[in-house]
Amino acid sequence: MQIFTDPRAFQLACRALRRSATGEEQPLGLVPTMGALHAGHMSLVAASRARDAVTAASIFVNPLQFGPREDLATYPRRWEQDVAQLEAAGVALLFAPTPETMYPPGFTTAVEVTGLSERLCGASRPGHFRGVATVVLKLFLLAAPQRAYFGQKDAAQVAVLRRMVRDLNLDIEIVVQPIVREADGLAMSSRNAYLSAAERPAALGLSRTLRAIEAAYAGGERDPQRLLAVGDAVVTATPGLRLDYLAAVDADSLAPVACAGPNTLFAIAAFVGKTRLIDNWLVS
Ligand code: AMP
Repeated sequence: MQIFTDPRAFQLACRALRRSATGEEQPLGLVPTMGALHAGHMSLVAASRARDAVTAASIFVNPLQFGPREDLATYPRRWEQDVAQLEAAGVALLFAPTPETMYPPGFTTAVEVTGLSERLCGASRPGHFRGVATVVLKLFLLAAPQRAYFGQKDAAQVAVLRRMVRDLNLDIEIVVQPIVREADGLAMSSRNAYLSAAERPAALGLSRTLRAIEAAYAGGERDPQRLLAVGDAVVTATPGLRLDYLAAVDADSLAPVACAGPNTLFAIAAFVGKTRLIDNWLVS
């Protein structure tokens, strides 16, 4: 696995590997991450390895997508384990820039997917999706992948990036992989490392809330307000869980739905102590 910190060197290496030995274009898949890798991240790598001739990954804790009072400084960093995992999984190129190389002095450009960026996490984390869209467009322009892999875990991020790809005519397929969970149902997240053993039962409230909504939906309920009330009741009954939002929205526009049905996204964000966790259920 070749490792790059310099954007231009990474760009040239991707360009070289996108050409096969016979000079033909071959598919390159990109897996952007913030590191502290777990099975959720590795499912994206595996999906790319199954389809693309070349898999590139990035590890970058992107300062642009963190608010001033968020966990940028304490975000888990596990460089050696991450490199070993990516290497073992057959990743050919790893891009791990520094904030200074990604955003040199004078950097002022931003990508704003207006409308979508103010919804769900964008409402509670102003500027978050602008930071995400900006860094992902940079990664897309550097790697020029045929496909880029993202997790359903960050459903709003998927909606924002799909819109960006469509609006800017990017010739990149966004591939979305299912949420990978711990055995107890907790969605895997690098931030789960913040949870103490005592906080873990409260963290399970997120997936329990979604399962309750799913059960009510399976029972025939389609009124989003009544479905959300079922979820709210679980949140309220879970000590130590402080709700940020619980919403029923269209998975593409992220706008609230009048009636739940296929492509309705039930999304939850909640705090357990200082740790902010997200989860969702997409009606298929
Ligand atoms: P992050 O490192 O948190 O920025 O995540 C990098 C990518 O991994 C994003 O596309 C996430 O949606 C995806 N991801 C994170 N957690 C999971 C999970 N539990 N299951 C599937 N994908 C995930």
